[in-house]
Amino acid sequence: MAGFRSLAEQVRDPEVIIEQRRTALRKCLEKFAPYGHRATWHHLCGRAGIATADRRPDPARLVAALEELEAAREIWLAYDEEFAVRRKREKFYGIRQPSAIDDWHRRTWGGYGVAWCDDPTVHPTAPLAEVLRRMISALESQPGAVCPVCREHDIEWRGGLCHYPSAGPVCRNCGIVVPAPVLTPRALAATKRPSRPLLAAA
Ligand SMILES: [Zn+2]
Repeated sequence: MAGFRSLAEQVRDPEVIIEQRRTALRKCLEKFAPYGHRATWHHLCGRAGIATADRRPDPARLVAALEELEAAREIWLAYDEEFAVRRKREKFYGIRQPSAIDDWHRRTWGGYGVAWCDDPTVHPTAPLAEVLRRMISALESQPGAVCPVCREHDIEWRGGLCHYPSAGPVCRNCGIVVPAPVLTPRALAATKRPSRPLLAAA
């Protein structure tokens, strides 16, 4: 199976027919899709000005979408690498304690679904690289009570997600599944409380 880089070359290749170049970009999302395949596609198309179902998009727009994905991937790979080095060093010195972030990190498959969006049409609007920068900064900071991407407090626990694990805290503003380790135990517990006065009154 082709790797991300050779797929990216196909997306850029003017000798390849446009339908295939589009397919190659979709295949890139099987390797790296921070919101999951469908939501990341929806995001990239929206920002590049491509209709999601357009099988013959403008080549320049297709490449713009690829460039956004590549920039985000570089940010994530650098974080991933640093994470692995740190883990190795801690292990060497015998100070490694498996943490909640280790558990979470293990399930992210090199950047797939790190900010999972279950509804493909609801996702952050900022550039992907910026979203990942905010995620990484939250993962490297003390846990808090807000969404790491949009800084909103409106986070609720949802089940039935097309994701593993199939339940988790979801930001009602930007749509991402918030990694549990970035929330304090108290904030995480609060997401499970069905205290929504506005909804109750409706
Ligand atoms: Zn959010």
